[in-house]
Amino acid sequence: MPAIGIDLGTTYSCVAVVKNGKVEIIANDRGNRVTPSIVSFTENQRLIGDAAKDGASQNYKNTIYQAKRLMGRPYSDDTVQSDIKHWPFEVIDKERKPYFKVQYKNETKTFCPEEIGSMVLTSMRETAEAFIGQKIEEAVITVPAYFTDAQRKATKDAGEIAGLKVLELINEPTAAAIAYGLDQFSEDMRKILIFDLGGGTFDVTVATIKDRVIDVIATGGNTHLGGEDFDNRMAEHCAAIFLKKHGIPIYSNTRAMSKLRRACEHSKRTLSSSTNDNVVVEALAEGIDFSAPITRAKFDDLNSDLFDQTIEVVEKTLLDAKLRVDQIDEIVLVGGSTRLPRIRELLEELFEGKELRRTINPDEAVAHGAAAYASNLCEDVSDGIEQFTIRDVTPLSLGMESCGRDMVTFIPRNTNIPTRVHQDTWTTTKDHQTSILFKVFEGERAATKDNNILGSFVINDIPPEPRGVPKFSISFDIDASGILTVHAYQRSTGLQNSITIENDKGRLDAIMINRMKAEAEVFKQADEEWKAQSQARHKLEDYVYAVKKSIRSRKFVARYSEEERQKILKKCSDSLNWLEIHTNAAKGEIEAWRKDIKREYDRYQLL
Ligand code: AMP
Repeated sequence: MPAIGIDLGTTYSCVAVVKNGKVEIIANDRGNRVTPSIVSFTENQRLIGDAAKDGASQNYKNTIYQAKRLMGRPYSDDTVQSDIKHWPFEVIDKERKPYFKVQYKNETKTFCPEEIGSMVLTSMRETAEAFIGQKIEEAVITVPAYFTDAQRKATKDAGEIAGLKVLELINEPTAAAIAYGLDQFSEDMRKILIFDLGGGTFDVTVATIKDRVIDVIATGGNTHLGGEDFDNRMAEHCAAIFLKKHGIPIYSNTRAMSKLRRACEHSKRTLSSSTNDNVVVEALAEGIDFSAPITRAKFDDLNSDLFDQTIEVVEKTLLDAKLRVDQIDEIVLVGGSTRLPRIRELLEELFEGKELRRTINPDEAVAHGAAAYASNLCEDVSDGIEQFTIRDVTPLSLGMESCGRDMVTFIPRNTNIPTRVHQDTWTTTKDHQTSILFKVFEGERAATKDNNILGSFVINDIPPEPRGVPKFSISFDIDASGILTVHAYQRSTGLQNSITIENDKGRLDAIMINRMKAEAEVFKQADEEWKAQSQARHKLEDYVYAVKKSIRSRKFVARYSEEERQKILKKCSDSLNWLEIHTNAAKGEIEAWRKDIKREYDRYQLL
């Protein structure tokens, strides 16, 4: 059974598979090679991808996008709070996790980001199944290199809810490196820099490729920098123009701002190929239309500090990799926002005119690499591609708090993973201490208050002894997906504990995952019922129109009276009226109507 590679993107997702030794990017049922990561809920159905995007402006309160930005984050997280302000749909606090609140089938429903992610993943899986003609159960899913432990686990949960066994999570830029490297394997070592600027996140990775081994040596980035930030800057600029022209502030009008942002995103794309455009929104607020010219120069100026930030991150990552710009052989561009001319100019300036590589479509490179890697991991390699190895690194330092304030680093950032670090000297700080709280952090700062807490656990009932006497072995384990397990153990007493799934923030427990899996099944059934209803409706409509046509025919008119014709016509229009009113009618009811007309019609035919 083949395994697929899925790029679960903030704005778009992409799926690929290896077939006959070649990576195939799979188009969805609309023929598109990328699918919007959007899910919408209506009175009678759930839509995913292009269909959800199409109806977004009419159903903006129930159309969820960018759910990935909330994955694995608590509700109180600053980024969650600032995102919520921009969105036209509601996000609520449910047991400290953010949940999307929507109206679905005339009921209020709440979904966590993992569930929305799982719906997108399910749709990607179905796209792949339709292409391969086989059920798919295994996948490699990609995540931004800067995703924290909790965000990685949330992504894995989303995969599980979608009924997929996640073979491994790999970093998006690493996947792009694989895609690039597949046809570049050589005995000479090549040093590449992957610049991945997407809709919501930015990653920089420096890697080497030699003898079918891809070695990531440093990563950098910003989990909150991407195309949407550029759209927001432009939308705010346009809102200021609207205020100046009409005296109407629209900053807190979520509907108007989301319409404006969509128009700005559109103009932004245009500005990548032409130097000026118009931002146009009909009835932006209070029925007033908006139209304003925008130039590429103005757009670049509005975003200049954000663009500069990307270059600073490149410089910092090169420093971490201990490489100069002239030592980089290739720069690989990934993510839709690398189409921005100013970004390319800045990179060319930095790399002194070196050509930027875009051999693989920047929207597809990540899924491409993920599929190649999935085929590498898959047991059935008959269809696969030549084996290769990747060695990734951890993007942030990981450590433990000591003395209630200091960060003690166990695994420095940019350490190759999987890895295991072990220390035997952890001890108590007070005399007769009988319990220790182990707090695990990630980050580069010396004080734990400036780093990000990942979780904590306690060991109790320690026999009282002077401080510094009890000894604990601490191990930090990072698996190939970048997921961390910390374990503490006192050899003399056998006492031990580790970070468990339940007390790790943002992690769903097994019961929740099972419940959501069951719900996903229910949705699948509902979606299928909906499709069956639609088919029945079309069949009835087609039939009625065919009957209407036939009774207008010369043959029919010659044979039957006007009264008889009217009788059938009435049945036809009754059924069409009934269809119009009963938008949610069950398949059985619809079929009953069709049979009814058929019976009537057949009677005349037989006369
Ligand atoms: P990704 O997350 O890689 O799918 O990238 C999506 C982001 O790329 C979105 O913010 C898009 O607006 C942006 N994008 C796509 N095409 C273009 C383009 N031609 N010019 C500028 N930005 C683009």
